Amino acid sequence: MTDTWVIVGASRGIGLEFVRQLLQNGHQVIAGVRSVSKADQLVKLKSQYTTPERCIIEECDVASEESIQKFANKVREAARSGLKVKNIVLNAGILQYPNRATELSFSEFALHLHTNTIGPIICAQKLVHLDTESPPSKIVFISSDSGSTTIFRDDEDGFGAYSASKAALNQMLRHMAAELTRRGGKWSNTCVLALHPGEVQTDMANIDLGWEVKGSIQADESVSGMLKVIEQMDETGSFWCWDGRRHPW
Ligand code: NDP
Repeated sequence: MTDTWVIVGASRGIGLEFVRQLLQNGHQVIAGVRSVSKADQLVKLKSQYTTPERCIIEECDVASEESIQKFANKVREAARSGLKVKNIVLNAGILQYPNRATELSFSEFALHLHTNTIGPIICAQKLVHLDTESPPSKIVFISSDSGSTTIFRDDEDGFGAYSASKAALNQMLRHMAAELTRRGGKWSNTCVLALHPGEVQTDMANIDLGWEVKGSIQADESVSGMLKVIEQMDETGSFWCWDGRRHPW
């Protein structure tokens, strides 16, 4: 085993692929999932490794403050017994399509904000406070090109709440990056990144949009690209595409 990674939202899609590639590359993973009983693919992946500590699966529902706290406590327990978290990836996300500003309900908007913005930020906050002796190297938020306020795609109908939730995520993670830098000392070595994974063929992308999605890729290509970006980029508070191109905020 080399490094320990925390992946939140690891039951399927891009999150599951992160776990698969990290385990394959010899790392240890703490995988946070909304419900262990529904994370069949992850449980199957874990069973391929004979050492149980290679892949530790814990419940983490990012839409629940209580669940996030319990997850952070579990990681804290593991840290007390010597485990050192190197990188954290906040991948959990939801898209309930369509989510138009002119139509969506209070609760539909709140669900997007809880899952895509508030949950990942609070989860990262609880995790970075737990091991102050040794802060993580990278805190990575899986954002989206939809969250860019520079590239406003008014031809993309039905993505109001989703886009807003990712734009808010982007703004909050930039504040997190700036606050950690101001804290200084050992915290100045912690790098906060936003990544756009590309248009990836997962359950989330499997919706009839009524227009052609150009340049879509498979999860393995997206994740191997993002792992390179995470390894190479050390400019805190920056936004990147899966293929290493800088993404405009
Ligand atoms: P999927 O829908 O395939 O997977 C979403 C993952 O997030 C699942 O593991 C799901 O768990 C988890 N999740 C959802 N809600 C919660 C919650 N409350 N607590 C914990 N986990 C939760 O999507 P993708 O793999 O495609 O998306 C991963 C990330 O990439 C998301 O943040 C998404 O916004 C982003 N993204 C994806 C793009 C794409 O083209 N696919 C494009 C741009 C960004 P469960 O199985 O329990 O539902």
